Amino acid sequence: MFSIDKEKLDGLLKDWAREYEVHVPCKVGDITSFELYGGEEIDLEFQNSRMPPIKKIMMPESETLYRYESSPEGYKIKPEELDERKRIVFGARPCDCAGIERIDKTFYQNPPDPYYDARRRNTIIIGLACNKPPFFSCFCTSVGLSPHSTAGMDVLLTDLGGGYLAEPMTERGKEVLKGLRRASESEIKQAKELHEKADELLEKFEIDNNAMDFDARVWEDEAERCIGCGICTFLCPSCSCFTLENIGSTKKGKMVRIWETCQFPAYSIEASGHNPRPNRKERVRQRLFDKYRYSFDKFGEFDCVGCGRCVDLCPVNIDVREIMLSVKEAG
Ligand code: SF4
Ligand code: SF4
Repeated sequence: MFSIDKEKLDGLLKDWAREYEVHVPCKVGDITSFELYGGEEIDLEFQNSRMPPIKKIMMPESETLYRYESSPEGYKIKPEELDERKRIVFGARPCDCAGIERIDKTFYQNPPDPYYDARRRNTIIIGLACNKPPFFSCFCTSVGLSPHSTAGMDVLLTDLGGGYLAEPMTERGKEVLKGLRRASESEIKQAKELHEKADELLEKFEIDNNAMDFDARVWEDEAERCIGCGICTFLCPSCSCFTLENIGSTKKGKMVRIWETCQFPAYSIEASGHNPRPNRKERVRQRLFDKYRYSFDKFGEFDCVGCGRCVDLCPVNIDVREIMLSVKEAG
């Protein structure tokens, strides 16, 4: 394990910025946003950013996959160049780092998605443990994670006051920390105590996904309030739905991948024209079943990392924690 003195942090980030595109948390107006190092003022006291930073880099809101043009010999297809910029995301919260592991499951199928893979392979993720949660409405301990869990990280940082304990989790994490001072036993002990304290600060509730009833009244009740804006999925660090759109004409154009959400009516329309989720009730139910039941049945873990963004940012205050508690009580 290594140690980063706070007064040396700027020098370290500068060194990394010679080789990598370094993304750091910054205060931008009223919110925290991950920006390129060297611009906005860095803020490592932040709670969490509005946008999940790793998802935004790995699967941008929109990206061109290929361009096409018709010719007398047929269509010419030109795949877009892969984005192989070397990046470091510095200071991402543990929930957001775990979120990218969930998104990996979408893009690392057979065959893997080359566009996603190029960015993922070239990005080093340096996470920052949460010493004083909860922030807003987060609940990571209820979904099997913690304020210092290391899923998805190359390095875990813990703020010790005067500096950070830096724990490498992968070979590339070790590589990027090379040359730093070795941490002392007392620093390691202090980090452990901070982790234990942070665990105690979070209230844990039990998610009983076996009690989820497809025909329960709760889906209709929540659907009456939901305005179908999709914020809860767009800003979710583990949601990865997208759609493909042709931009151009039949002669020339490009294929673009853009974020999509199961909360929009057109999302589920099948080629026949049938829509299995025509009403908001089915769409609200789908989000919750997908997050807490289907993913669990398939992968043995929730597709929710407990970041709390959907709770905080839903314009009509729909709260997944309340829904899952009511499901449990009704079950
Ligand atoms: S479902 Fe809500 S709390 Fe869970 S990871 Fe997504 S935005 Fe965060
Ligand atoms: S953020 Fe709230 S209102 Fe918007 S789609 Fe999600 S649950 Fe519905």
